[in-house]
Amino acid sequence: MKPEIEKVKVLIIGSGPAGYTAAIYASRAGLSPVLYTGGQPGGQLTITNDVENYPGYPNSVTGPEMMEDFRKQAERFGTQVRYGLATSVDFTTKPHTVIIDEQVTIHADTVLISTGASAKWLGIESETRLNGKGVSACAVCDGFFFRGQEVAIIGAGDTACEEASYLSNICSKVYMLIRKDEMRASQIMQKRVMNNPKIEILWNTETDEILGDEEVNGVRIFNNKTGEKSEIAISGFFVAIGHQPNTGIFKDYIHMDDAGYIKTIPGSTKTNVEGVFACGDAQDNIYRQAVTAAGTGCMAALDAERYLAEFEND
Ligand code: NDP
Repeated sequence: MKPEIEKVKVLIIGSGPAGYTAAIYASRAGLSPVLYTGGQPGGQLTITNDVENYPGYPNSVTGPEMMEDFRKQAERFGTQVRYGLATSVDFTTKPHTVIIDEQVTIHADTVLISTGASAKWLGIESETRLNGKGVSACAVCDGFFFRGQEVAIIGAGDTACEEASYLSNICSKVYMLIRKDEMRASQIMQKRVMNNPKIEILWNTETDEILGDEEVNGVRIFNNKTGEKSEIAISGFFVAIGHQPNTGIFKDYIHMDDAGYIKTIPGSTKTNVEGVFACGDAQDNIYRQAVTAAGTGCMAALDAERYLAEFEND
């Protein structure tokens, strides 16, 4: 079979707020962008509860609804939204080469990387073994399976607090396992969990092992101050310890920091490779908000548009 090859002016990889905003701008500029959704169409917001801090939604909106709005707006101006995962790239060629699902070859004058970030895991054996059998990194996706039951959540950032609050509406009790004696979360989120009678916070607590053969039935924890070990009976174990950028396929070409966040030239979305721009969480380990991701998506489309104008005049 002849390999599929296609040439595009603007290729957008990823479908979170950054990718869709880039698509809205690029399509309104007449650049006929093609956007590949990646493995999680709509990005991290599709596994988010209510979004209360995105301007323009005074009564809040659910993450999936908001991303559906973004997609429709991008398609309205002619973006081709396609399901597919970029599996490798070659940024030494001009146009740049991106392979989708290991079979479709796209040649693109500009590539906009908006691949976002994914949940981090603890990395212990029992977590992998029991993944999907009581271990989850998404309370909104899986909390329902544990209604009326006791669960634990690990992490002390805004995500952990948000998910603990969410779980407390469904589950009979939520243990929050926090490795320090303080939380990283914003004050408002901390207060919300501390004042919630269904949430019990265990400070200086780390996970030794998640217990259960076929499914989770408990967790063995230890106090990292006293060394004391104990077990609690739970049926769900939620991991909310942050995210890592989905930038692995670009590492041979694009400059990144030690954590894998793409480095952009300050004041722009330009990477070290001409014609390749990065936006959203893939390049932002500081703000990581939907609205900031959308802002950089807009910047990437404008940067690409200017680059193409110069490129065509050469
Ligand atoms: P963060 O990186 O902010 O927090 C991660 C948490 O996980 C920290 O408390 C960290 O602990 C803990 N942690 C990391 N590794 C381990 C480990 N191996 N064992 C135990 N605990 C661990 O990630 P979030 O996903 O919470 O938030 C990311 C960004 O998104 C933040 O900027 C946040 O403000 C934002 N956000 C905003 C929301 C909102 O406004 N509604 C909702 C959700 C997120 P330690 O502190 O000890 O390092």
